[in-house]
Amino acid sequence: MKIKNINGTSDTTCSCGSWLKHWEKFSKQTVTYCPVSTCYNKDIVGAHVQKATGYDNKWYIYPLCNAHNQSTSELEVPDSYTLVPANKKETCEK
Ligand SMILES: [Zn+2]
Ligand SMILES: [Zn+2]
Repeated sequence: MKIKNINGTSDTTCSCGSWLKHWEKFSKQTVTYCPVSTCYNKDIVGAHVQKATGYDNKWYIYPLCNAHNQSTSELEVPDSYTLVPANKKETCEK
C-alpha cells in the first residue's frame, strides 16, 4: 500500500505513552526495522499517516524511522503491518 505523512501534527501523545506504543498495542505487532523497502533504520517512531490512494482520509499510525517520518513523498510499505487509527476515541480512549 501507499501512504503519505501528515505533516505538522502537534498531537503530543495518548495514554499509551507514545504513538509507537499505541501502534504496538492495537496492531499487536512489533517492528525492528523501518518497513519501507531498502530502509534498515531502527529508530522507529509511530508516524501519523494517511492512505495515499482512495477516499479514506482517516488518520492512522504506522511505524516509520525518523527520517521517513520527515519525508513528504508517498511511501510504499508492506500491507503486513496494520494501520492503527490515530483517533483516540476509536482506540485507547474508547
Ligand atoms: Zn493510545
Ligand atoms: Zn525508513
